[in-house]
Amino acid sequence: MAGTEEQVKPEVVVPDTAPPSSASEFAVENPATGEVIAHCPNLGPEDIKKMAARGREVQPAWEALGFEGRARILKRMQKWVMDHQEEVIAVIRSETGKTYEDALIAEISYGAAAFGFWATNAEKYLADEKVKSSAVLVKGKKLLLRYRPLGLIGVIGPWNYPLTNSFGDCIPALAAGNSVILKPSEITPLTSLKLAEGLKECGIPDGVFQVATGLGATGAALVDEVDMIMFTGSTATGKKVMKTAADTLTPVSLELGGKDPLIVLKDADVDRAANTALYYGMFNGGQTCISVERVYVEEPVYDEFVAKVTEKARALRQGDGPSGSVDVGSMTFPPQVDIVEKHVEDAKAKGARVLVGGERGQHNGGYWYEPTVLVDVDHTMLAMTEETFGPTLPIMKVRDEEEAIKMANDSPYGLGASVFGKDIAHAEAVARRVEAGAVCVNDALINYSALELPMGGAKASGLGSRHGAGGIRKYTQQQAMLVTRFATKKDPHMYPYSAKMTTRLSKFFKFLYGRGKRD
Ligand code: NAD
Repeated sequence: MAGTEEQVKPEVVVPDTAPPSSASEFAVENPATGEVIAHCPNLGPEDIKKMAARGREVQPAWEALGFEGRARILKRMQKWVMDHQEEVIAVIRSETGKTYEDALIAEISYGAAAFGFWATNAEKYLADEKVKSSAVLVKGKKLLLRYRPLGLIGVIGPWNYPLTNSFGDCIPALAAGNSVILKPSEITPLTSLKLAEGLKECGIPDGVFQVATGLGATGAALVDEVDMIMFTGSTATGKKVMKTAADTLTPVSLELGGKDPLIVLKDADVDRAANTALYYGMFNGGQTCISVERVYVEEPVYDEFVAKVTEKARALRQGDGPSGSVDVGSMTFPPQVDIVEKHVEDAKAKGARVLVGGERGQHNGGYWYEPTVLVDVDHTMLAMTEETFGPTLPIMKVRDEEEAIKMANDSPYGLGASVFGKDIAHAEAVARRVEAGAVCVNDALINYSALELPMGGAKASGLGSRHGAGGIRKYTQQQAMLVTRFATKKDPHMYPYSAKMTTRLSKFFKFLYGRGKRD
């Protein structure tokens, strides 16, 4: 049945995880057609307060269920995602306009893997850690580090991956023993509501996971109510979230925008570099935080690389068809089409040439931009310096690898990056000089699927990371414990102070720390 699914067209969606609200509603569109497919409540601060109270009330029992109890529900949910794959893909496609394959490869497979991964690994990452200390005053005492859930986590999601980029963070927060309120993007709330149904069917206790639909103000209200906020979205909104969180000293983790460079060294396998650059530049319509956004190619292989990318880009099929019939879908967020157009027009006005595409697409309504290849680009152009977040691939010729590295690092962002070269040691050495949270050699983007490998942005691309130990420990309070098991009634340094004891202690400290040589 792959790809033959009916488009899901709910009339009015009222999240049954949310309290009844007098809130106004907002419309959800299918961006591939421009048709309104649902309305959701725009929840206000009072609704969020009630949801927060509910989440806090049920959290202790969820924590008490232990890792095994929580894992049972998360593993059931992994199976649920696979059993309901076609329905979930239909919902995702209906509100994002992405292709069947984009939804399958980067949403379903990631989501299902994440439910299983955190169910299996949460306990390992959050197990008590014994600590050894060289401090003399704690000799013989038990020292350990433990991770206790923070309580109530707020997750704010973007529109480009409504499953992956929202649930990817909710799952470890839940596995750690927290309650979660998810505020999905107002552009794509339906996937979250669908998954909330699944979690309910899989037995998650009422109130442990809630979806708060609404506009930006709903997200701002959530920041005020939770113990930690996990935000994924633009750098501009991330700064606002951090400012709001400062008032309540709420910890934040921010996964923000990017402008990922891809460097092609002169010894690269040009076919692989061209295929990878094109695929991860156009994948999900270029609307991936770690999309290939700009390419730097060393002079000796530039013409060959451009010819190969151009030929492959011309063959791309764009549209809203069933699986296997199209390669690139629509834009998801209508104003994003204007941004992409602005970047392409700005580049053209400054001397860039369009080799493929370069126009808004036409497909029975909706929001489209053609897969576009640009050359003769430089860093005076928006297409090379600002996040385009669309199906564009600007390619710049560079003299040598030093210029490539300099250009790659000439950006406020530092999310992902790629380096292509057959001499692996050399390509890896170049990769180590790129200022990015993640770098791939002879690859791009796929590092995101390794849930053991941390993923987080450098510079203006974020704060903190997801995946790996840090991806779950951030939802916990690190608690240091010291346990004195065997002891005298009174330690020697305790009151009353005496000159005799002070002299002894002083000699002891000199013996311990005063015997080294001074340079
Ligand atoms: P956005 O910043 O416009 O919105 C993100 C979320 O924030 C939405 O749910 C929105 O309603 C909410 N919001 C808006 N104003 C708010 C406020 N004042 N307080 C709290 N919440 C508020 O981002 P977007 O356009 O939905 O997503 C695209 C951006 O996300 C791109 O820049 C992309 O690179 C980035 N992104 C980053 C990652 C990553 O892992 N680094 C992943 C996906 C997307």
